[in-house]
Amino acid sequence: MRTEIIAVGTELLLGQISNTNAQWISKELAHYGTNIYHHTVVGDNLHRVVDAFELAQKRSDVVIVTGGLGPTEDDLTRDAARIVFADELVEHEATINKVVNYFKKNGRTMTKNNRKQALVLQKASVLDNEEGMAPGQIVEDKDSTFILLPGVPSEMKRLMNDAVFPYLVKKYKLETKIKSEMLRFIGIGESALEEQLKDLISSQTNPTIAPLAGEGDVAIRLTSSGAAPEKKIADLKNKILERVGQYYFGSDSITIEEVVQDLLVQNSETIGSAESLTGGSFIEKIIQLTGASSICQGGLVAYTPAAKQRMIQVPKEVISDYGTVSPQCAEEMAVQAQKLLNVDHAISFTGVAGPSSSEGHEPGIVYIGLKMRDNPVQVFQYHFDGSRDKIRRRTVNKGFELLFHKLKLTNLEHEDIEK
Ligand code: ATP
Repeated sequence: MRTEIIAVGTELLLGQISNTNAQWISKELAHYGTNIYHHTVVGDNLHRVVDAFELAQKRSDVVIVTGGLGPTEDDLTRDAARIVFADELVEHEATINKVVNYFKKNGRTMTKNNRKQALVLQKASVLDNEEGMAPGQIVEDKDSTFILLPGVPSEMKRLMNDAVFPYLVKKYKLETKIKSEMLRFIGIGESALEEQLKDLISSQTNPTIAPLAGEGDVAIRLTSSGAAPEKKIADLKNKILERVGQYYFGSDSITIEEVVQDLLVQNSETIGSAESLTGGSFIEKIIQLTGASSICQGGLVAYTPAAKQRMIQVPKEVISDYGTVSPQCAEEMAVQAQKLLNVDHAISFTGVAGPSSSEGHEPGIVYIGLKMRDNPVQVFQYHFDGSRDKIRRRTVNKGFELLFHKLKLTNLEHEDIEK
């Protein structure tokens, strides 16, 4: 199966967005050992889209097209496909009903071009788009199959997973040949991790081990091919976790926020924050998660000393004696947040994000306070390098890292007691 991917959109050519659709599709198809021969990006120009389609038609068995299926003038994918396949566009009934209902429900006037989203090629198999309006289409023509998908990544991925992969697996008898698992670690740097696994990394060929540095966490991708790839990955993963298991928080697309959420859910516990330099971005990450209401009471954001006094009730003397960039202030912020928000665990962040110094402290000095259940409050001091943004992001990541390790530890202790 010779496959290629065409992304339609001038935004891509202008560098306003990256072609993450093609990257994702290629990566997913690699699991099936499929050969991707070309990635093409073409702007919103009918002639050029037609040219790209004709070229692809000649050289590939499967052509996956993303983008250009929306309602506006510059959404040209279906017109180009109509020309290339010498077909007619017809209105897809289920889709037009969906579009009409959407406008009715939201009390908005539907313009003529919105009908365009319901147009499909007469000979296409239509794939219902659960995440958006324009459906996907599979067009089988001569020796090639075109798969037209919306450009919005969430819509594209849903259609690929629900309809396109099953279709390709069936039609081309694809088998999963390559398996991979991404092991995620926090609290250990990339070089320290590599050092601990040095012998494995240099001797291992199947699975291969590829370290990848992220922001705040590091990952290693294990990729195996051939017979029993799952077993090979599981064996190597065990070996790795024997050495560095204490830093491992999960696999593949899981995030540290989700893991912290799971740990809190397991104990039916709640969390809240008192935030200064992070401006609420810690609690934002918690609230982003589905199910946040069961674990999160809220966050207090106070930036100036006066606001810390008023809103978080940090005593005036703490601020005048030690300043707001101090372990004492972080301590009070965590203690007060636990009380005010009535939560099992409270975390506080205070420090200097920069670029200039504050209260005589260099940028990058950060204090994180943790008040967990009835335990005494703990304060951790860090010095982060980098821009204001980076310091703020690293502070939030560090907060999650601390919570992960502390919550995991107490969960393990619980398990011991239960045993
Ligand atoms: P819809 O019909 O669902 O509106 P569409 O098919 O018209 O989607 P486009 O209008 O081309 O898609 O793109 C919609 C948005 O999807 C873009 O603004 C961009 O954010 C994102 N997008 C489009 N193509 C890509 C791509 N190749 N990689 C990543 N994101 C993309």
